[in-house]
Amino acid sequence: MLMLGAKDGGGMTTKIRFDNEQAPCGRVIGGERARDRDDDCLLMDHVRYDCGCSRLHDEFHDGSMRLRVVHHSGKIIMDELDAGE
Ligand SMILES: [Zn+2]
Repeated sequence: MLMLGAKDGGGMTTKIRFDNEQAPCGRVIGGERARDRDDDCLLMDHVRYDCGCSRLHDEFHDGSMRLRVVHHSGKIIMDELDAGE
């Protein structure tokens, strides 16, 4: 089975605004989600909440992925790097 992926230049960031999502601190608040794909980073999914919390999810072309959750106080709640295969 052959899967063909559409290549569209890369480097395009899609920003999506949301109103009610639970931030890492527990508040249900608005924020902005940025999604991007390029040659270095297969998938970037960064969420920034209005309170200052952020949740970053990156997947790289070598199969590794990174998950980083930061509280609006600046405290890192989670910072995981999965090396994949
Ligand atoms: Zn917060």
